[in-house]
Amino acid sequence: MIPQITLPPDLLPRDGRFGSGPSKVDPIAVAALAAAADGYLGTSHRKAGVRGVVGRIRSGLVSLYGLPDGYEVVLGVGGATAFWDAAAFGLIEHTSQHLVFGEFSGKFAAVAAGAPHLADPQVIESAPGSHPLPRPDEAVDLYALTHNETSTGVMMPVRRPAARGLVVVDATSAAGVAPVDPGEFDVYYFSPQKAFGSEGGLWVALCSPAAIDRIGSIAESGRWRPPFLDLALALDNSRKDQTYNTPALATLFLLAHQIDAMLERGGLAWAQERSVRSSRTIYEWAEASEYAEPFVTDPAMRSLTVATIDLAAAVDADTVEGVLRANGILDTFGYRKLGRNQLRVACFPNIDPDDIATLVAAIDHVVEELRRA
Ligand SMILES: *Cc1c(COP(=O)(O)O)cnc(C)c1O
Repeated sequence: MIPQITLPPDLLPRDGRFGSGPSKVDPIAVAALAAAADGYLGTSHRKAGVRGVVGRIRSGLVSLYGLPDGYEVVLGVGGATAFWDAAAFGLIEHTSQHLVFGEFSGKFAAVAAGAPHLADPQVIESAPGSHPLPRPDEAVDLYALTHNETSTGVMMPVRRPAARGLVVVDATSAAGVAPVDPGEFDVYYFSPQKAFGSEGGLWVALCSPAAIDRIGSIAESGRWRPPFLDLALALDNSRKDQTYNTPALATLFLLAHQIDAMLERGGLAWAQERSVRSSRTIYEWAEASEYAEPFVTDPAMRSLTVATIDLAAAVDADTVEGVLRANGILDTFGYRKLGRNQLRVACFPNIDPDDIATLVAAIDHVVEELRRA
């Protein structure tokens, strides 16, 4: 039973969406989609209208990330989860090394472990709330990193561990916020429904020339690849501003809109500043609170985009989440499988830092009321 607590109007954020994915979509982008819908939704993805949107996504990401010549933006249907399967067929030559520090990084490692045509992957784990470090190894042809582990709120720097071996980075909840040096990765891939505030069902991968070479050499080797997961087919189609099969047109539109808006507002520097402000508000509040504390103890590993906050045993996180939800403040629950008494709050750039300040005041109010009851 969730106790009935009504938040006063000054403790209601202007927008109540704080989920870590799908995350808040910019209402301006939704209005633009509605305005464009008649000539766009329900039209062919092989014709100029939709291909123009894919072209904007591809060139916009080149600008946003300052990608050097020879880097290409590849995209396909299925999200980051489908990209793991595609990578097992089309990017890992023989042996991959995975840094596992949460749910998502663990899933890619499990894909590689299950693939009968690959050697057993090297898996380096650390306790939830921290991240491990890679171990350079001559036998490794692909290092699988995760820029931000959305399940635990841990962020790690993107750095090339070794001269040999592709560096393939799951950037799903960091891309669109955290700057990164393209020289430090070969593939930087993401789903757009998190930091990019779009919809799901799509993967996007920024690929270096070495990654493009690897896709080509595996395809030429004759290894069987399911066509839907074939990165060589995805690359061919991306070069024509298309996807191999039908994409969600709304997802593409919202992503293109978000990238354009970011470029107008100051690019990744603008986005990062928003997320820094929001996450600082939460971590400083939790550190000062007598019933809350940041789950990630090392401040250097704390995520800019997904703040995980442990609550004292006397304050039940699910009850707090339920009261917030009843007041229209959505999706502040912790990651279920982590099994902690925890709140998790997204600090993506679409989320107003002032709303984050209101949220923490609202949490304090709820906890006070619960204690009084
Ligand atoms: C959400 C998430 C995924 C999975 O994305 P899907 O679009 O559901 O496939 C993978 N990796 C990270 C880091 C995520 O946050």
